Amino acid sequence: MTSDLLNKSRPWDKILAQCRSELDSLSQEERSWLNARLSAIAAYQIELDRLFRLADGPAACASCSGSCCDCGRHHFTLTNLLGALVQGLEPPSPDYNRPCPFLGRNGCLLEIATRPFNCVTFICETVEAGLSPSGKKRFYELEKLLRNEYEAVAERYAAASLRGLLIALERMNGFPLLQVRGAESRLCRQTLFEKGVAL
Ligand code: SF4
Ligand code: SF4
Repeated sequence: MTSDLLNKSRPWDKILAQCRSELDSLSQEERSWLNARLSAIAAYQIELDRLFRLADGPAACASCSGSCCDCGRHHFTLTNLLGALVQGLEPPSPDYNRPCPFLGRNGCLLEIATRPFNCVTFICETVEAGLSPSGKKRFYELEKLLRNEYEAVAERYAAASLRGLLIALERMNGFPLLQVRGAESRLCRQTLFEKGVAL
């Protein structure tokens, strides 16, 4: 099982340490690019949450015991982790025995700005019915804007795939998390060259 493998081979504190170290090593230009994406994501998510609250979403979700979170196992992405770290937040430790590793006894343990894309953009018919027409229009505009930002980060760093951090970590097979896409093949070619293998 993915999370079991991750739990045994890559403890959470090691993932955090790697991510922090790679963030610290980014060039100023790269860091500025990433900060701009993460700031936009945080701002869009906070506005989405404001609309969700205006639609009385928290009461609706409480009445169905937050059943959406039963499907959240792989929603959290590298982008969400980066969002927390650049804000100086200490992300909660995941509990892989829960349906979603970030589901606490009283709901989600993550700050709104660092919750996964799927979590802040999904609303069921009940919640949607609570939105005004202009609120609904803005909600779906924000969803599109937010998706663009997540996709920009995922296009740049393979480990930021929207398929989720746990899956991405297994697929990255030890490569740096913030390696710009394409660089891994350049690294492979360089390794082969250094070993004298004809390319
Ligand atoms: S969005 Fe709808 S289905 Fe999901 S937890 Fe809230 S009320 Fe329940
Ligand atoms: S990250 Fe939070 S909102 Fe999303 S599924 Fe997990 S507990 Fe629910």
